[in-house]
Amino acid sequence: MTGKTHAGLGTAVGIALSSRVPGELSIISIIVLTVASLLPDIDHPKSIFNKYILPIKNNTAKFVIYGVIGVLIIVLNFKYEEIPELNVIGALFIIVAFSSHRTGLTHSIAGIIIFAFVSNYLGVRYNDKNLVYYFVIGYSSHIIGDMFTNRGVPLFYPLRNKNIKFPITFRVGSKKGNLIEDIIIICSILYILYRLPTLLQLR
Ligand SMILES: [Zn+2]
Repeated sequence: MTGKTHAGLGTAVGIALSSRVPGELSIISIIVLTVASLLPDIDHPKSIFNKYILPIKNNTAKFVIYGVIGVLIIVLNFKYEEIPELNVIGALFIIVAFSSHRTGLTHSIAGIIIFAFVSNYLGVRYNDKNLVYYFVIGYSSHIIGDMFTNRGVPLFYPLRNKNIKFPITFRVGSKKGNLIEDIIIICSILYILYRLPTLLQLR
């Protein structure tokens, strides 16, 4: 699925589930929803994030840049800060450097757990311990969405490297696929607009 579809779907689902999640929906939690629903494709050199991060959009550039950032975070942290969580974030960059699109960690349950751990740490640190729920909703919506595509996702990576998909799927970029994604985007936007009056009362 394209970034737009993931962002729309994840944000709409998160807003729909917000009454069942501890804590109130805030502007920050909506931003977290949108970012988390795009994050799994960070392993793809042409994804939305990498459009801004990578000067050259190929796997070698992705490997070098994420690898260097990861190693720098860990080395500098070792020298100056010694915050254990920074090592985890550094390790994440290195994992992203090594994982290729949909054959690695970011589209798996293990990926959800690792990224949830980091987002929980950041949430607690910045005084919003409920952010992790929105993060997990956004991130999971991406994985579930991709399971409706014909390629599926390596859900049980690294235990099993087989791509898992639902019985009914569509092919990304095909006529039918584009139509389905357009419908998802339109429905998501309509739903978000419908909820807007309540959302605008956010603090
Ligand atoms: Zn994806």
